[in-house]
Amino acid sequence: KRASREFHPEDSIIEVDGVKIGGGNKVVIAGPCSVDKLENVIYLAKVAKENGAKMLRGGAYKPRTSPYTFQGHGEEGLKMLAEAKKETGLPIVTELMSISDIDVVYKYADVIQIGARNMQNFPLLKEIGKLDKPVILKNGICSTVKEHLMSAEYIMSEGNEKVILCLRGTRTYEPSVRNTLDVTLVPIMQKMTHLPIIVDPSHAAGKREFVSALAYAGMAAGADGLIIEIHNCPKEALSDGDQALLPRDFEYLMNKLKELKPWN
Ligand code: PEP
Ligand code: MN
Repeated sequence: KRASREFHPEDSIIEVDGVKIGGGNKVVIAGPCSVDKLENVIYLAKVAKENGAKMLRGGAYKPRTSPYTFQGHGEEGLKMLAEAKKETGLPIVTELMSISDIDVVYKYADVIQIGARNMQNFPLLKEIGKLDKPVILKNGICSTVKEHLMSAEYIMSEGNEKVILCLRGTRTYEPSVRNTLDVTLVPIMQKMTHLPIIVDPSHAAGKREFVSALAYAGMAAGADGLIIEIHNCPKEALSDGDQALLPRDFEYLMNKLKELKPWN
């Protein structure tokens, strides 16, 4: 199979606008959960860049549990990300939720994020498999490693081999965390696949005070990178404000990560 090490023994290196991820190239992606307003997105893009992040994240199409909460600014949000990219040069990572939004998301995204809720949306996976842009594929809310890898196969079998796997934790019987993140899966999956593996400590922790420990643990376990939610004014955030690192926390974490010597 295309994602497996047997098929491709060397680590895959995926390049986005000159930023390489995989094969020893570590990348931190940072930004707000959802794009709220231009001023914040530009500010956060600068915070991300100044502290060593190589890409900017931000959702314009949001998979919210309740239909009565903010659903994302859509193309207006994508335009704000484009402005932030113009200011900082950081490539954009943004979520695609539906086949009907492929054209508009494709136009602005440098990396297309497929969220946990769509990990097994097979028609959507097949469609992004026909595109030439890298994809971050998050694990599903309750998925197994094999299911996650099979979803990568759906994308790769259509021709798009630029898949980055993202571990964001799964729902377990433990209620004190939003999602349980098993960092053992980093080396386990690296044995099984040549694709880069990044960790999302934000959606696992669910609370700002626990995000940095998980981020550090993920990188210590040998992950190829992180995708982290940050916000300058979490009260103004239109989603996931509780788990957003403040700029100063993010700066502290990025400095701490420099001390780290990963196992692999
Ligand atoms: C997100 O990245 O903001 C998000 C919705 O993540 P997940 O799909 O992992 O829940
Ligand atoms: Mn989020």
